Amino acid sequence: MPRHSLRTRSKKRLSVPLPGGGKTIHYRKEKPKKAKCSMCQRSLAGIPRSVPSQLGKYAESEKKVVRMFGGQLCSSCLQMLLKRAVRKMF
Ligand SMILES: [Zn+2]
Repeated sequence: MPRHSLRTRSKKRLSVPLPGGGKTIHYRKEKPKKAKCSMCQRSLAGIPRSVPSQLGKYAESEKKVVRMFGGQLCSSCLQMLLKRAVRKMF
């Protein structure tokens, strides 16, 4: 039976083959899902897949895309919205 701290379904189990033919289980922490664009649901580039406690290790520029709506919209959706807004003005 695994340790008490490993008896949780929040950790991923990985079956690892051993040299003698047997196998053992390795436990991995589950990563959060990729950040998605709120309009088209495409995964965003430049946003790390990390838990908030680990995000403190990153520099500010490594955590987000420096653009308006950086961590929320993908570049093509933002481009479309900006074009629409400008065309509405005139
Ligand atoms: Zn999008």
